Amino acid sequence: MRYSGPVFDNHFHLREDGLFREAARAFKAAGGTALNIVNLPDPSVGLDRYYERVYERTLRIADAIREDVGLQVMVTLGPYPLDLLMFSGAGRDPEMEVMRGAELAIKLYSEGLCSCIGEVGLPHFRVSDEHMDLSWKLLGQILSMAADEGAPVMLHTMDLGADGYRRIEGLTVSAGMDRRRVVKHHALPQDLLLGTEIRISLLATRPNIRHWISVRKPAFLETDYVDDPSKPGKVIPPDSVPKRVRMAEQECEDCEELLHSAFHDLPAEVYSVDFS
Ligand SMILES: [Zn+2]
Repeated sequence: MRYSGPVFDNHFHLREDGLFREAARAFKAAGGTALNIVNLPDPSVGLDRYYERVYERTLRIADAIREDVGLQVMVTLGPYPLDLLMFSGAGRDPEMEVMRGAELAIKLYSEGLCSCIGEVGLPHFRVSDEHMDLSWKLLGQILSMAADEGAPVMLHTMDLGADGYRRIEGLTVSAGMDRRRVVKHHALPQDLLLGTEIRISLLATRPNIRHWISVRKPAFLETDYVDDPSKPGKVIPPDSVPKRVRMAEQECEDCEELLHSAFHDLPAEVYSVDFS
């Protein structure tokens, strides 16, 4: 099989002081064509006008990748699920600050500067009950703001089993949000068989791709590349998605449609972006 359509990484972070353009160039050199650049939390910018600074920088990074590397780029902006710990640790009102970040992300979405709200959701490790309850409450509010604006949402959460997905789906439905425009980033391969309406985004590891090919369920692929030189090997390399496409070409006779759905149809349905 030979695949010749777009190759899209659904969750990719870049830093101006990381590999930055070089990481995007490695993705392109391996055959990648489009990236979803998600903002990275960075307390070093200071907590005043925190989201203005973090989002502005992400938009600047996206422009640099479009212009200097020549990739198609969509942007995802939103308050990271652990931001509330950062604000409450600094003696600030976490609810007010996080909602400010959500409102700004929605505003930038309405101006066409980003295509998705995220990554938002729940801490992926144990936090106090108080913080977990607040996370659920804020997620519900963010989902209903996104629903009002018609914006898709990228979720960051702990691993979800069937019950976890059901609870998220319940929250999504009561927020008036279309479940099919909500994406679970860093989902597990077994999530493909849970029958959830929430969209699955899989880490592009070899075992995950082999599982995906065997079950043939729609999913995004991602690296969750974090571009942090101080943590080498923390995540899979930036060129992993195009490399897995080459692997699928070797190992699968008839995977064109599956790949095309991951890189073209799903981005169009969920984010209203057209990668070709
Ligand atoms: Zn991320």
